[in-house]
Amino acid sequence: MLEECPHCYTAVIPSAHGECPSCRKNFHDRAGTDPTRTALHVSEARALPPYCHGCDAPTDRFVDVIAKVPGYGSRANLGSWLLLYYAILSLFAPFIGLFSVAGDDAERGRSGERFKVSLPQCAACGAAGRPRPVRIDRERGLLTFIVHVSFKKRIEGA
Ligand SMILES: [Zn+2]
Ligand SMILES: [Zn+2]
Repeated sequence: MLEECPHCYTAVIPSAHGECPSCRKNFHDRAGTDPTRTALHVSEARALPPYCHGCDAPTDRFVDVIAKVPGYGSRANLGSWLLLYYAILSLFAPFIGLFSVAGDDAERGRSGERFKVSLPQCAACGAAGRPRPVRIDRERGLLTFIVHVSFKKRIEGA
């Protein structure tokens, strides 16, 4: 049965000794892990509730995360897949958001696929950093983010 690794948040089947096949850390060693964090897979069409994905506080600030991956023929490694373009569409910076989106459209023709997700993020969490997907599932069109466990419960309970 798949379990989520407390270190890398990948859904894996741990070895008999509890080793994660993805990051090689041990499920039983929780040192340095954060039990309030979990992985959430988000599709482009998914409408998310107005609560911060990082701390679960109510917020109406949504951040557009645009992730691009090269076409299927590319041999690029995972690190270079994650060419990320962000546009913050908030009350404070509507024009920056518009310009960024326009720039992405112009580049679309020579890049591969492009995924866009609107992720709720409060201003306090936004000050600490923009959301970054930790994984991109091209086949299913899912971006994986590390979110607060309470935020994930809102979505799975709905
Ligand atoms: Zn792991
Ligand atoms: Zn927050």
